[in-house]
Amino acid sequence: MTPEADSSTSRPARLRVSEIFHSIQGESHTTGERTVFVRLTGCPLRCSWCDTAYAFSGGELRSLDSIMDAVAAFGSRHVCVTGGEPLAQADCRALLGRLCDAGYLVQLETSGALDITGAQVAWAARCEMARAVEDVLARRTRALFLDARAALAAAPAVAGLLAAELRRGPAWTERQLREFQSLAARYLA
Ligand code: SF4
Repeated sequence: MTPEADSSTSRPARLRVSEIFHSIQGESHTTGERTVFVRLTGCPLRCSWCDTAYAFSGGELRSLDSIMDAVAAFGSRHVCVTGGEPLAQADCRALLGRLCDAGYLVQLETSGALDITGAQVAWAARCEMARAVEDVLARRTRALFLDARAALAAAPAVAGLLAAELRRGPAWTERQLREFQSLAARYLA
């Protein structure tokens, strides 16, 4: 298997891992399921209530193959990638892709402090049949109704990401953006 590579450096993808362990999920809609937890090192925040400060530093640098092998050894269908803030490490996305491709039911525990627009657009396009910027920002995420200004600010990035997902060109992207801006203007009063 060819290892995933960081596109900016062509180096093999790898992650600093605090711990990998097997337990019963105690949160979310999968409460009670046997789950493998992959805890990545590091977090840019310092919440006063944090119960995992030990994951702020240390850990072991591991290849994705090594992490996948460790996860497989537990024989569980559920995997939770947590931290720290897992998205603070660029190669976390590559790990999530590997886990999904391998058929695991994957959860990501994130603080929400880092941008997940790309993941939201990909999910909306691939799993929720979003075919327009309005689909993503109004019908799927409800962003337009929650905060029209923020939705408007996100629209150019969403249009670009959706165009890439749907393999559309610049003319389609510009038209989508214009149509959404026209729609959003009605919610700014
Ligand atoms: S975001 Fe999570 S891991 Fe980071 S400091 Fe806050 S509680 Fe701790």
